[in-house]
Parts: sequence; C-alpha cells; structure tokens
Amino acid sequence: MKPANSVLSAYETSVFEVMSRLARENDAVNLGQGFPDTNGPDDVRRVAVEATEKGPNQYPPSPGLPELRQAVAAHGKRFYGLDLDWQKEVVVTSGATHALASCFLGLIEPGDEVVLFEPTFDTYLPMVRRAGAIPKLVRLQPPDWKLPREELRRAFSPKTKLIVVNSPMNPTGKVFSRDELQYIADLMLEFDAYAVCDEVYEHLVFDGLKHIPLMTLPGMRERCARIGSAGKTFSLTGWKIGYVTAPPNLWQPIFRAHQAVIFSVAPATQKAVAYGLGKDDAYFASLAAELQGKRDRMAAGLARAGLDVLPCHGTYFITVDIKKLGFNGDDVEFSKRLVADARVATIPLSVLYEGEVPRTLIRFAFCKQDAVLDEASRRLAKHFGAA
Ligand code: PMP
Ligand code: GLN
Repeated sequence: MKPANSVLSAYETSVFEVMSRLARENDAVNLGQGFPDTNGPDDVRRVAVEATEKGPNQYPPSPGLPELRQAVAAHGKRFYGLDLDWQKEVVVTSGATHALASCFLGLIEPGDEVVLFEPTFDTYLPMVRRAGAIPKLVRLQPPDWKLPREELRRAFSPKTKLIVVNSPMNPTGKVFSRDELQYIADLMLEFDAYAVCDEVYEHLVFDGLKHIPLMTLPGMRERCARIGSAGKTFSLTGWKIGYVTAPPNLWQPIFRAHQAVIFSVAPATQKAVAYGLGKDDAYFASLAAELQGKRDRMAAGLARAGLDVLPCHGTYFITVDIKKLGFNGDDVEFSKRLVADARVATIPLSVLYEGEVPRTLIRFAFCKQDAVLDEASRRLAKHFGAA
C-alpha cells in the first residue's frame, strides 16, 4: 500500500497525551499537560449556557462572530494600544493550536526557512515542516534562557520567511524583554521576515514584568500575526477558542487556511469569550496574581523535595534540573519512573528539542488547586527521601 504523508508520520503521539494517560493509569497528580483543574469563571460559562439554549447554534461567520472579533480588537487596544480593524484583521480559530496551523499553512511557501527557539512547543515543528518550510532552530539555555543574539543572527538568511516567537514561553517560563524583542525586530526588518507570535500566556506574567507584544514595536505592526487563547485567559482549555490578529495582507492567507481547514468555530463559546474579554482589569490582574502564588507554592515544594528549580516569570510551568540527583537514566525515564513510583506526572523537556537534546530538565504545571500542589509536593518529598 502507498505510504501516508511522511512528514506527519514521522512524529509520535504528543507527550502531553502520553503523560495524561500515564497519570490516569497510575492515579497520579497530573502536573504534566498544562490545564487548570478548576472550571473557569462562572459568569463566562453562564453566557455559553444561555447562548446554547437561545441559539443560534448554526454555522457562525467563518472569521468569527462579529462580537468576538470586536472584543479581540478592543482587548488589543485596551492592553497594548493596538488599533485593529476587527473586520480585516481578526480571525477566531479553534484554539491557538489551529491559529498556529493557519498561520503556518497560510504564510509559508515550500522551501522557506522558519526560525524557531528551542525548546519548541510541540505543534510548531510538525506544522512548519508540513507547510514545506526548513526549520532553523536556535537553542535557549537554562537557567535564564537569554536570547543568544549572534546565533539568532546566523539563523536568519534571505530565505527566512518568518520567526516564531512564544512569549511568555512554554516550557521555559521566559518572558522576552523589550530589548530582546527589539533585536528580533531589527533582524526581521533586515531580512524582510514576518513573525508568528504565540502569546497565549499574555495574561500570565509574574514578578511585576509586563508582556510586550512584538507587534507593538516600531515597524512590526505590518509583520506580525499575534495569537491569543481563551483557554489560558479564562482557564477553559477544553473550549479551544483562539484568535489571530494580523495586518490585512497576512490576515488574508491566514483566514483562507482557517476557512479551508475548519471554516468556523462553535458560536456559544465564542459569545462567552467575547463577554470574558470585556471583564474588568481586576479579573486579569487576579488571574496573574493567583498563578504567581501557585508558582511560588510549587517552587517551594520542589525545593523542599531537594530539586533544583529554575527561574520562571510566566506561563503555567516551572522547570527543574535533575542533574545533581545522579539519576541513572534520561529525563524521559525519570518522568516515567516519577509517575509510576511517586505518582506525580510531569513533562520531560528533551521531547521539545531535536538533535543533541538536554536530558536533565523536567517541567511541572502549577495551574492546579493549592491542595493538589501540596499533595504533589508531599509525594515528591517522600519519593526523594526529604520527608
Ligand atoms: N501555544 C502554546 C505555547 C501553548 O502552551 C499552548 C497550550 N495549550 C498552545 C499554543 C495551544 O493553545 P490552545 O489550547 O488554545 O490550542
Ligand atoms: N499547552 C499544553 C502544555 O504545554 C498542552 C496542550 C496540548 O495538550 N496540546 O502542557
């Protein structure tokens, strides 16, 4: 029989799926796949319930319900001063995952080069390659994951179509500084490149830092597609509502890809997210404050268990380096052992790298109830003989 597509066939089942399955099988605390264990804001869910009951429940406009596109544009203005035309610059997608795919399918021409930072979120490379691009990977190094400027410059060439910038960054918890973004912007201008900006954790930034969309830097408004996710902003990851904002010349092909792949997204959840994006500043501030408290709680628990905790300034995730534990095996084996023996599920970072991968970094999701984080910490302390 003829083979299926070779690009996608080469990839394994996602680590997030695998670790969530192992968590269920081992009755483990799941700090692997990043999803909150609460139900999202009551008022936002109520709007979805009412909209489902009242309808309409038929196909909404392909780019998204007008009220959600307007809300996304208003949110861009409110938080970042962006002036967006909701009709020509916003498209509502089935989560950020589908937004990313639409950007890659819409913007990449076979043979283009795409610059990405390692560790990479797991859907980037399969889709970038499926779209026909040649990835150019630039590795960030722990503990601070600073931008390696010279290496980044070497990754750019006249063939560079775009760079993928994920800030705040999963899994590193890095928040790109204005200075780093400016360096990226300068390269984009020099090499006539675009950026796909994965900003799903835009509201999950800690320690008084500010999220800066690359799109807000001089000359970047015309070159960036900015992606957000209601999953993260409203702790409703299962809803899979994402949105892209992009200038009309980029919006067109991104929208065409969206239209060809899924056409439109469930209307009731769109309505609810439109409502949610209009919530007052206190909502967004308390979301970040609450997550920062959980970051601190988890970091303390990991340190008590004797693990080396790396800095984290945003997202749902904190990473430890297990080098000094002297574990006889790599990070994947470590994670498998941990889920079976300590009954705590995690994500080994090596699966988010290619080539000579680091083998001692383990990610923990802290977007969980305090009691759950405490139970995980207790299990880890016991497992590592610290309790
Ligand atoms: N990008 C990053 C960096 C993520 O961590 C995630 C996690 N879910 C996504 C995109 C996908 O978001 P969504 O669930 O909205 O598809
Ligand atoms: N973003 C989530 C994480 O990093 C996973 C999303 C997914 O399962 N695709 O854990």
